[in-house]
Amino acid sequence: MNSLWLDDTKKIEKQNPLSNDIKTDVCIIGAGIFGLTCAYYLSNLGFQVTVLEKNNIGEKTTGHTTAKITSQHGLFYSYLINSYGKKFASNYLEANENAIQNIKEIIDTEKIKCDFEYQNNYVYTTKKSELRAIKKEISSVESLGFPCEFVTKTGLPFEIEGAICFKHQAQFHPLKYLTGLCNSIISHSGKIYTHTTVTNLEKNINSSYNIFANNCSVTAKFVIVACHYPFINFPGFYFTKMYQSTSYIIAMDPKKSLFDGMYINFTNPIFSYRKVKINGKELLLVGGGDHKTGIPSSYQDTYGLLEQEAKKFYPEGEVLYRWNTEDCISLDKIPYIGNYSIAMPNVFVGTGFKKWGMTSSNVAANIIVDKICGKENKYEYIFRASRLKPIKNRDELKNIFLQSSNSLLFDKLKRANLAFEKIQNNSGGIIEVNNQKVGIYKSLNGKIYAVKPICTHLGCLLSWNDIDKTWDCPCHGSRFDFTGKNLYNPAFKNLETYDIN
Ligand SMILES: Cc1cc2nc3c(=O)[nH]c(=O)nc-3n(C[C@H](O)[C@H](O)[C@H](O)COP(=O)(O)OP(=O)(O)OC[C@H]3O[C@@H](n4cnc5c(N)ncnc54)[C@H](O)[C@@H]3O)c2cc1C
Repeated sequence: MNSLWLDDTKKIEKQNPLSNDIKTDVCIIGAGIFGLTCAYYLSNLGFQVTVLEKNNIGEKTTGHTTAKITSQHGLFYSYLINSYGKKFASNYLEANENAIQNIKEIIDTEKIKCDFEYQNNYVYTTKKSELRAIKKEISSVESLGFPCEFVTKTGLPFEIEGAICFKHQAQFHPLKYLTGLCNSIISHSGKIYTHTTVTNLEKNINSSYNIFANNCSVTAKFVIVACHYPFINFPGFYFTKMYQSTSYIIAMDPKKSLFDGMYINFTNPIFSYRKVKINGKELLLVGGGDHKTGIPSSYQDTYGLLEQEAKKFYPEGEVLYRWNTEDCISLDKIPYIGNYSIAMPNVFVGTGFKKWGMTSSNVAANIIVDKICGKENKYEYIFRASRLKPIKNRDELKNIFLQSSNSLLFDKLKRANLAFEKIQNNSGGIIEVNNQKVGIYKSLNGKIYAVKPICTHLGCLLSWNDIDKTWDCPCHGSRFDFTGKNLYNPAFKNLETYDIN
């Protein structure tokens, strides 16, 4: 199902696919919030900018977000101070606080009507045993000189034990915001091409790059990889230092009045709340149901859980939308921003926003724009993409390697023990045909779709996702629909299919 944002923004102007070779100053791969923020700043500075987008504008993670704009990324500052010290934590906080103001400045300058409103943000707990963690976070944040508050009363329709509140945070309609960015980019002679999948890039002798898409090439001095999970494996090796996590959102008409503020708790099961006004009506967004992308989950543990929770407080409420998406999580929980790899000068990246991409994408765009302009950026050192710290996180690294070796090797060797007849209509699974694994989906009316269930990224065995009727990769989070069409990175090729009907 489409997100409420995508459904409400049918107006994002359709752009054409790339159909001839062109030259540009900066080529940006991906038209989500990060790519378009880079394009906005650079086109305003007079750079000739070209954005290449595989799908439609904002259609992937940004089109499915909750769109809270906050520097409060869970209980993050105690972790940052413990791991990296106060100066580091303070700079991270300042960079993300600046991002809130930068977003507001863009909205005011461009007169973007995107329902931006300041709201307080709360990380709360309903458990006495978790109060210590909240209190610790409060003293950590206070030690950075940032005002925060401990509260026991909020607008939430249930009692809490306590919460840490950051005032003057914000929320908006992400796709209306992207529409405003696009209008400005185009008015500054920027070009945006949709349905244009970048498949490769090559360095020229004169240090420029050729970026290949739709059998055409774009020649550019600078390249920004803004495609969420980078699809270029070598160099960079992002697939060894990042995974994807899926979360679910429901939009409910509560049939009664709603509360102010944006809320999230910090231990499982996670529940995230904000309200949104669409066509004069206030709806409640409830998010949660997180799991590593590619690890099968059930309706009951995802949408079912969110609905059950919301109905406790809004029993008459009607769920109007259900959607999910995924975001990239780095091993040390800090985004990767800056040079893609030392082997690729003038190629930049911003990824690993760990479900806090509204501010992180603005921080990233500012760092990369400064790099392109040859200016120092005070926050660059925090996010350096070539840092070694993430791969020193042995536990997370071990998880990634275990998952990859299982899906790349051991699971492939195991025989699939599902019988074709056992697959129900509107469901799927992997069967064995002549010692080969075949992914089967039977549609509602019994039509059979057969694919080779091997990820086109690095060859991991895919798993069947019965909630969305998709094939998902447990290694790096690529996803494909039941016909084999690629939906999410890092893979960009479709699955091989078999004609079985
Ligand atoms: C459920 C959920 C809720 C969230 N809620 C919040 C929130 O409340 N606040 C917050 O701050 N953050 C939130 N986030 C995180 C935030 O939404 C993301 O970090 C952010 O949207 C990522 O933006 P992006 O531009 O990097 O990626 P995307 O929006 O995915 O954009 C990348 C674009 O690149 C394109 N692309 C991919 N490959 C290619 C290719 N080969 N060639 C050309 N184009 C390509 C894709 O089609 C896509 O349009 C949430 C995340 C999730 C999962």
